[in-house]
Order: sequence, then structure tokens, then C-alpha cells
Amino acid sequence: MKKDTIAAIATAMSDSGIGIIRVSGDEAVEIVDKIYQNAQGAKILKNYESHTIHYGFIVEEDGTFVDEVMISVMLAPRSYTMEDTVEINCHGGVLMMQKILSLVMKAGARIAEPGEFTKRAFLNGRIDLSKAEAVMDIIHAKNEFALQSSVKQLKGSVSDKIKELREKILYEIAFIESALDDPEHISLEGYDERLMHETEDILVELHKLSDSASDGKMLKEGIHTVIVGKPNVGKSSLLNILAGKERAIVTDVAGTTRDTLEETIVLGNITLNMIDTAGIRNTEDIVEKIGVEKARKISKEADLILYVMDASLPLDESDMDIIKMIVDKKAVILLNKSDLEEWVNEQSVVDAMKDVTSMDLKLTQEDDCLNSEGTKDILPYQKIEGLANTVYIMKTSTKEACGIDILTSLIKSMFFHGQITYNDEVYITNIRHKEAIFDAAKSMAEVKKSLKMNMPEDFYSIDLMSAYASLGLIIGEEVEDDLVSEIFSKFCMGK
Ligand code: GDP
Repeated sequence: MKKDTIAAIATAMSDSGIGIIRVSGDEAVEIVDKIYQNAQGAKILKNYESHTIHYGFIVEEDGTFVDEVMISVMLAPRSYTMEDTVEINCHGGVLMMQKILSLVMKAGARIAEPGEFTKRAFLNGRIDLSKAEAVMDIIHAKNEFALQSSVKQLKGSVSDKIKELREKILYEIAFIESALDDPEHISLEGYDERLMHETEDILVELHKLSDSASDGKMLKEGIHTVIVGKPNVGKSSLLNILAGKERAIVTDVAGTTRDTLEETIVLGNITLNMIDTAGIRNTEDIVEKIGVEKARKISKEADLILYVMDASLPLDESDMDIIKMIVDKKAVILLNKSDLEEWVNEQSVVDAMKDVTSMDLKLTQEDDCLNSEGTKDILPYQKIEGLANTVYIMKTSTKEACGIDILTSLIKSMFFHGQITYNDEVYITNIRHKEAIFDAAKSMAEVKKSLKMNMPEDFYSIDLMSAYASLGLIIGEEVEDDLVSEIFSKFCMGK
């Protein structure tokens, strides 16, 4: 199939050292040859070997000099798109890149749609759909985890896992079909039991994958975190210290239902999206200013609550309100200002919580934390046992930056089971993939149901087939053209 030749600026549309204009398609070499001259003034791009780079000039039709460039030639099928591809490395001014692109168009190329190069890589069979999506995730990665998991996905972590599951399912479909076709030679005696076993195994794997999606999503997009506490306890100081540790990006999430701003704080491989009602952190008590209801609503939406207390002052009514608000949430209670003389400690907070909740609560030390010498550390934090969710309590001093490293590693351990591993875990970070896995699991659960009810074998294969098809969507088999177009339309220009 002959395809038209596409072109786009592949680098950022801002002034920079170099800019790249990418041209791909059957006529890529021919088209660029029309506007290229080597140092001796010859147009000989088509004589160049694949995977070579050449110094020369871009010239207009009438010979007017445009720019000094390096041209790389990558011939099919050994290129990103699997088509003949030429990349023009020019000086990275926006005007220059646009000028060269317009010359390329005049010479016969068409402007590429967003993501069209990667779409061609997919359509030409070099990468599957989940790998193509990984390319985009790499570009948009906001923290180390998101980056690593996208790179892994590009290398095939998700595709391989999905293919493995599909093969298992296909084997069963084929077995049932052949047994039904040829009952004389292939017996279904005892097959139900084997299929039940296999179905349960596949379900375990699918559930593991969909469970990884909440971790994966949080790792990729961030943990929605809210800091609560009375005025003057050190909330802003905490936010600043967390933000100051690494780069803080302030994003306006305008018009969200929450009416809030989110400040993204990247702490190594995790991201905290600090939910912040506009201005509140600088002025007053979150509860007083916006009312308990709203504070409760915000806290309800949060994945994590950081409840800051001034440990040098006694607890009061507002603290009781906040305690009520957080009891069923994942939270860390910070006994801040621990550099000052202590008025409240871990036990007195738990006692207050017991009064408020009438629950039987107690403080525990987790004892599975061994230091590098293999001996037990006295943990600087304790767990409040007996609540619906995980709540820790620890001392901090935002003034002296004490306890902050411990707080960040505690948050990691609360959200991600064990180490955040890049090597052996497959994380699902894409909502489309999650939905497909969910559908596949639903079909497999139907297989299990039919087995329990001793339904005829062809019932199993119907549901096995639909599980197979759902998983196929992830890697781009069985996808409709519309979906493919929609996925790639979210890509950037030139990718
Ligand atoms: P917010 O109203 O809760 O945001 O509290 P701020 O972060 O604005 O802090 C209120 C006051 O407490 C400021 O004067 C801070 O310098 C002080 N402060 C904050 N954290 C600490 C701490 O850990 N120790 C001491 N001694 N003072 C602190």
C-alpha cells in the first residue's frame, strides 16, 4: 500500500539549540532531496546509505540559501515508522523550523496529524497499541515512577503479560472447539476441572493487574493529599518544606467541582497532589473558614490526610471536629512543633480519639522495619490500631525540618505495597487498559459460573472468546479504527 508522505516539526515550538523536521513516507527522500544540497552543491540524498547523517544546506527552489543542516536518512523498514524517514536537524528557531517545514510541504509532503508517526509505527506492525500509548506516557511523565513504568511498557511489560494471558485463553478455546469437532479423538472427560483451575488462575492474574491500576494511577498521577489543622500549627510550613524539597509546580485546576487548587509536589518517585482550597493555607483554619461540611467533603475526596497539630498546646473542640473527619481516612497525624515543650503526645491524641469515636484504639509499633545492619530501629512513628483505615502518628518539627524524610517514606509505604519496583511488577497505568482487564475478568467470571452450573462446553468458549477479545483491545488487536484515531489524536504533533 502506497502511503502519502507526512512531515512535522518534531521538537518543541520554542527557540532552542536545534529543531527537527521529520519526514516519513514513500517519497521522503525524494521530497527532501528537492530542497537539500550537500557541501559541494549536489542533490544526492537518494544515493546515501540508510542510517547515515550528512552535513549540507536547505535551499529554496531558486537556490536561495535557507539554513545549514544535518540530515539523517533512515530507510524502510528500519525506522520509527517502518517507512523511509528523513530528519532535518536545523537551527532551532521557531521561524526557521516553520520555514523549512513549509518548503517540505511545497516539495510534496502533507502535514502530519498529531501522533501520526507513531500511528504508522502501529499500523505498520512495529509496535502494538499499548507500546504506542507508552510513547505518549513517556513524553508526559511527571515523576520518576511514571517515567520508568512507561519505559517498561514501551519495552513490552504490559503487552507481554496480556499476550501470555491471551495465549492461555486461546489454548482453552481451541481445545474445546477441537474436542467438539472431533469427539472420537479428543475427550472432554475431566476437562471441567482443568478449565476451572485455569480460569481461577487467570482470574487471579487479572485481578492482580486491575489492583495494580490504583497503585499505578496514583503513582502516575499523584496521591490526592490534603493538609488539615487549626491555624498556626504549621500547615504552610509543612507545605513549603515538602514543596521546597523538590520542584513544586503550581497548577490551577480551574472549574473543578472541588473549587480547589492543586499543587503538585514531586518527591522522588511519588507525586503528592496537594488539594488546597484557595488561600486557606495562608490564612485561617480550614474547618473554621470553609465549614466542617466542606472540609469533610474535601477530605472525603482525598487519598491521604495530613493532620497537623501543635503539640505544644492542648487539644480543643476544633481538634475533635477534625478527628471526626479523619477517622475513616488514610491519614498521618503530625505532632508538630516537637522542638517546643510537649503538651500532647501520641497517647493523649489516641485517648482523645477514643473519646470522640468510642472505638477501642491502641498505639502499636510496626516491628518489621529493620535497618541496614539488620537490627530493629526504634520507629519514629506509630500506628493507631482499631480504625477503619491506616492512620499513623508521628512527631515533626517543620521549623527544624525534623521528621520530614520519615514522613515521605511513610507515605510511600502507606500507598505502595513494599518497594515501588520497576523490575518485576507490571503496573497498569492506563484507564483504557484497566477497563479492558475489568471486562476480561467479568467474562472469565462467567466461565466460572457456567462451569459451576455444568453448562455445555460451547458456553465456556463464548465467554472465553469475549475475554480474549477484551484483552486484545489493549494491544490493539480487535480495535476499531475510530478508537485508534481517538488514541492517536491525543498525541503531540511530530510524534
Ligand atoms: P499554619 O497557619 O498552620 O499554616 O501555620 P504556619 O506554617 O504559618 O506556622 C505558624 C507559626 O508557627 C509560624 O510562626 C511558624 O514559624 C511556626 N512554626 C511552624 N512550624 C513550627 C515548628 O515545628 N516549631 C516551632 N517552634 N514553630 C513552628
